[in-house]
Amino acid sequence: MIPQDFIQALLGRVDIVDVIDRHVKLKKAGTNFKACCPFHNEKTPSFNVSPSKQFYHCFGCGAHGNAIGFVMEYSGFTYPDAIRELAQQVGMEVPEVRGAATGRTAPAQVRGLVDRMMEALNYYRGELKKSPEAIDYLKRRGLSGEIAARYGLGFAPEAWQSLKGVFADYESEEVKETGLVIDSEPGDASDGEPVRKSRRYDRFRGRVMFPILDSRGNVIGFGGRITGDGEPKYLNSPETQLFEKGRELYGLWQARRAIRDANLAVVVEGYMDVVALAQHGVENAVATLGTATTPMHVAKLLRLVDNVAFCFDGDSAGRKAAWKALEVSLPVLADGKSVAFLFLPAEDDPDTFVRREGSSAFVAALERAVPLSQYLVSEIASKVDMRSEEGRARFLAVARPLVTQIEAPALGAMIRKRLAEMSGLDAEQIPGLGPVRGPARPRPGPAPRGIRQALSVETQILQRVLRKPDLARSVDPELVPEGSGDGRALHAVLAFVREAEQGLTLGQVIAHFEGTEHAALLDAAIGGGSVLDEVPEAELDLAAELAGLQDRLGLMHSERRKAELEVRAQDGPLTPAEQAELAALTARQAAAKGVNSPLEKPPKQ
Ligand SMILES: [Zn+2]
Repeated sequence: MIPQDFIQALLGRVDIVDVIDRHVKLKKAGTNFKACCPFHNEKTPSFNVSPSKQFYHCFGCGAHGNAIGFVMEYSGFTYPDAIRELAQQVGMEVPEVRGAATGRTAPAQVRGLVDRMMEALNYYRGELKKSPEAIDYLKRRGLSGEIAARYGLGFAPEAWQSLKGVFADYESEEVKETGLVIDSEPGDASDGEPVRKSRRYDRFRGRVMFPILDSRGNVIGFGGRITGDGEPKYLNSPETQLFEKGRELYGLWQARRAIRDANLAVVVEGYMDVVALAQHGVENAVATLGTATTPMHVAKLLRLVDNVAFCFDGDSAGRKAAWKALEVSLPVLADGKSVAFLFLPAEDDPDTFVRREGSSAFVAALERAVPLSQYLVSEIASKVDMRSEEGRARFLAVARPLVTQIEAPALGAMIRKRLAEMSGLDAEQIPGLGPVRGPARPRPGPAPRGIRQALSVETQILQRVLRKPDLARSVDPELVPEGSGDGRALHAVLAFVREAEQGLTLGQVIAHFEGTEHAALLDAAIGGGSVLDEVPEAELDLAAELAGLQDRLGLMHSERRKAELEVRAQDGPLTPAEQAELAALTARQAAAKGVNSPLEKPPKQ
């Protein structure tokens, strides 16, 4: 663990402009610097770096972060390694603190979980070296020690409670939350036997272990492939606080550089496929994790690159998975982005194919992958009788709900034209094939986390405070309710800024909350890009906006207090002090209403 004080001091010392300029040539533009984004393909620069905020933001793909985040993202370093790298650049020595003793208050369980997953990984990796059986298994699969190390492969021994040696508190609730153990069902007292108590045992036994990393390089889960004959062949971690299957892609952490270089991400079905492809030099492959492809998976990859190719097994399950991937891709496709499908021979999966045919054959096959538009049309056509009118009508009926999901104008038009040709009609003659005109999606940008809602006052304050942290001193924390996540995040930011020195940068604020429960909310508040937008800094306006928002908070606060007092009054008479307070609150509200919304009280004449 690296102490938070050190990280703050480090970010006070490094200049994000120097850090980024080492890799991406920056040009001065007003108070900011600009370049073509290193994280997505573009010809006009939308990647902005702010020296005053010590923060970067790309208006094209939504990438953003502080200096540490840039080094992680650009060089593929873990969080601690990125800190070490930056420290070295400015000649600072990184102090290490053993264990979780960081002296921070409530570092959110998440951090403890991350540490535990890392401990488990180290254990499994050590066990792999000791297991001739597991080593033999990997060798038979043609994997080198180098690839095993790169993907952090390990081995869970064939024992019920081997993790007892890793976690001294094996029976604790915290260990349960790692998803690495299972509690057995307590038995019934049948057949005269005594009642069996619930027992805890290791989830993974006798399996080669594949750690699943998040975009920070943290271990968030595991996949395990059995080395013997048992069932199931593949077993994954359950969903935990860290691990959400529909979001994560196995191997993305290791593959991100290769994916960017090739401007292509290859999606396969299993972690063994990913590792086998990497062994043969195809390093831009990732896998879904025991779930079908989700729109979030596709959106995540299309933010990174322009081309995604799905390569599933040649059997019928693989074909089904491919069709599912097509369905979820439709709404997230944009013009200029391409999704294609590679179908291997029926008896193959990517692992067997690349081992037998080699990487150049695999790459050649990728180049012949079927574009989504073609796959969509030919797959539906193959299921109906295109020679009859009824068949062609059926063809259109099946295609309609799919095509209407495509929002990319050019691609949509192309597919409609093709459908029309095949059914022998003009595109205009086909009813209901136009794209559904719903509310515009917020994009490009981070994948939507559910429906966009009106921003809370707390979030609006947060967005302004993040633009200029010193302004946080003007916000009264007493007014901020702690009932919501936004409220708690705002409280935490206000408290942090109050205790810090003047001139705190956004980069430092983000570093302080890295890995805490507030991190995701802060990230979302920044996500819209307004923190680094190109409007020249009009700090006076920010202050005025904050004052206005604070008035609204104040009003909400007095409404809550007034309601409280009114409820109290039903139980018995209020004290004189309470009565006075209630009267004052009522007057204040009336005054505020008069000022803010004169329309509510039309003058009676
Ligand atoms: Zn970008």
